[in-house]
Amino acid sequence: MKVAIIGGGLTGMSAAHVLSKRGVECTIFERDGALGGLAASFDINGARLEKFYRHLFTSDTAIVDLIEELGLGDKMEWKASVTSLYTHGRVYRLSTPVDVLRFSPLGFFDRIRLGMLAIWPRFIRDWKPLEEITAREWLIRMAGQRVYDVVWGPLMRAKFGSYADQVAAVWFWNKLKLRGGSRSKEQSEQLGYMRDGFWQLIEKLEERLRGQGVEIRLSSPVERIRIEGGQTVGVVTQGKFIPFDRVVVTVAPEALLEIAPDLPEEYAERLGKIEYLANICLVMVLNRNLSSTYWLNIGDTDIPFVAVIEHTNFRPKSEYGGHHLVYLSRYMAADDPYYAMTPQELFRAYLPHLQNVFPEFSADWVEALYAWGERYTQPVIARHYSDLRPSLRTPVVNLWLSCMASIYPEDRGMNYAVAYGQRVAEEMLSVLEDRSRDD
Ligand SMILES: Cc1cc2nc3c(=O)[nH]c(=O)nc-3n(C[C@H](O)[C@H](O)[C@H](O)COP(=O)(O)OP(=O)(O)OC[C@H]3O[C@@H](n4cnc5c(N)ncnc54)[C@H](O)[C@@H]3O)c2cc1C
Repeated sequence: MKVAIIGGGLTGMSAAHVLSKRGVECTIFERDGALGGLAASFDINGARLEKFYRHLFTSDTAIVDLIEELGLGDKMEWKASVTSLYTHGRVYRLSTPVDVLRFSPLGFFDRIRLGMLAIWPRFIRDWKPLEEITAREWLIRMAGQRVYDVVWGPLMRAKFGSYADQVAAVWFWNKLKLRGGSRSKEQSEQLGYMRDGFWQLIEKLEERLRGQGVEIRLSSPVERIRIEGGQTVGVVTQGKFIPFDRVVVTVAPEALLEIAPDLPEEYAERLGKIEYLANICLVMVLNRNLSSTYWLNIGDTDIPFVAVIEHTNFRPKSEYGGHHLVYLSRYMAADDPYYAMTPQELFRAYLPHLQNVFPEFSADWVEALYAWGERYTQPVIARHYSDLRPSLRTPVVNLWLSCMASIYPEDRGMNYAVAYGQRVAEEMLSVLEDRSRDD
């Protein structure tokens, strides 16, 4: 049996890993010149850094198991990190319960309510009722209007823009559960990173896939999935048709619609309703520290970035030739003018805001700038997403779909890319086994 996998990110690579270990002949078609997708890295000062900031939570077991399986387990390091919030013209540290109790923009009882949000979402087992209401309604119900207006409302608007009031409570519950659950006994957030970078996972996995006979075709965008008589028969890349018995798609539903115009109408209509945000990360290489925070949320919607992630407050700067590395992240609709900006244009637009947040910051701290943008980076999980969520097996015979929009009730992340890549492969194999048993 020959399987085509469209997309060489962690979902596609993990699917190929499971299938090829079981002797299935696989070909990965990747549009870019390298594997990794959103988890890809670039060269920087003799080291390699992820294009988009990166860490793992302690619950990310699927990816940690894969890292172990590839013999890279000793590279995983877990560390406490510092989280803060910029609001009311100041940076407030919000890493521990004591920080929350000192958070002066809220009165004492609201601080307690804010703190409780880090704890009790972990104890919610039945998430189904959270599909019914929006994150906004839920947060106001749980922690009050003031906590929403000061902390969560501005962050939701900064990340989701005009979609902010549509996002379901399930999505937010998951975020709180993940972050709240990834804590040490002292209640500081524990985050994981691979010493020297996650590029090693991508590289080792690629090596393993090649060893297992997977054909990897880089710079080979699939232009068309050919469907005949309700059945997938192969793909077209670089103008050439290649027959396959099965096709696994790992790209966003909207991107699938572009390459598969012959999908059944009702199914295509459903896929078309799944919205994704784009993201652009400006990476600044600095000659000094910007702050003492790893993750700074920006709770001020006049500022055009939603988070400042100072990577070298999490990883030692010695790993990057002594330089300080900072990501400025902006989510947006694909037609947003920021999405098309060069690193220099982004920096010019961000500079006055950076100077508001960090009054001492000066442009001459900057040694280099990079910007990485991607169109499909975050599905918008609205209410009743269970009704919209695409299943792994599509209505087209032999066509499978596993992408960020498949992940639910969890949210996208490398761990779930690995888990859902493995899951689509396992489901496909079990259908095959059932069929051969029936024959
Ligand atoms: C700003 C940002 C920060 C993040 N931070 C973290 C983090 O800290 N921790 C974490 O765990 N996760 C993080 N994530 C999420 C994580 O990166 C993703 O969930 C994961 O990498 C998705 O993998 P994927 O394979 O599903 O999708 P992708 O990585 O998007 O892979 C899809 C691949 O398909 C290719 N493709 C598209 N169209 C075609 C075509 N027609 N033909 C062939 N190939 C095609 C693309 O080039 C791409 O390589 C972050 C994401 C973003 C955007």
